[in-house]
Amino acid sequence: MIRIHVLGAGGATPLPGHSPAAYHVDLDGDPILMDPGPGALVRLVGAGLAPRGVDDVALVLLTHLHPDHCLDLVALLFAAHSPLPVRRDPLVVWGPPGLLAWLEQLRGVWGRWLEPRGRELQVRELAPGETCVLPGGGSLQPFAVDHPQDRLARQCFGYVFRDTAGRTAVFSGDTGPCAALTEAARGADLLLVECSTTDELATPGHLAVGQVRALLAEARPRQAVLTHQYPPAAALDLAAELGAPGGTHVIQARDGTVCSVPADQEEPRP
Ligand SMILES: [Zn+2]
Repeated sequence: MIRIHVLGAGGATPLPGHSPAAYHVDLDGDPILMDPGPGALVRLVGAGLAPRGVDDVALVLLTHLHPDHCLDLVALLFAAHSPLPVRRDPLVVWGPPGLLAWLEQLRGVWGRWLEPRGRELQVRELAPGETCVLPGGGSLQPFAVDHPQDRLARQCFGYVFRDTAGRTAVFSGDTGPCAALTEAARGADLLLVECSTTDELATPGHLAVGQVRALLAEARPRQAVLTHQYPPAAALDLAAELGAPGGTHVIQARDGTVCSVPADQEEPRP
């Protein structure tokens, strides 16, 4: 079972209902806090997904190091430094190459304030194509996508999540059209995909509406959930704009949208 709770359906510029990136993934019972952008921690707790606060965060997964996807890792580490949390098992952070250097620079600013108290911080840079198996038996696999890089983020990832029954959910991360995303999404049970902009405002390194339509028509995932909407895209009825390319059931995410594999109301594929 894979359940994804969209905590932030927007991009860097928040709107009501479209906060910056943040996702909670339940992969066969293993919780993952993915891309904790600004305000993610507050929304995680507010959604009832972390009743014990930071003690309920065991694994943080990052697609890339732009602030709208990772800023609340700072808030999380600082909260874990306070004497209140009691959890003692490691706090694990996985992300793309550049993650270690970024955290080192943050320590240059805040020093020990970012050291979890009583928990080991285990940070690892993943490699595209490697398979990481979680305690519950589900796995995740990063793939490299096409998004502007800088001296910190030397690679940007999307992820394939696979549950123990072999069902897949794919997250695009931030990306322009790219073959790796199309292949990862091909036939997926669920595709959580960025739809940043309208066609008129198409931006390199992001997907505009028409590019998402082409992706779905080619890859034909069973269901697609559109996220990372900047205000012009968020103002549209994206499901109506897109129709059902390739037979895919399309959902326009807002903060609080929950999607799952198997779908809560699975329909036979046309
Ligand atoms: Zn972004």
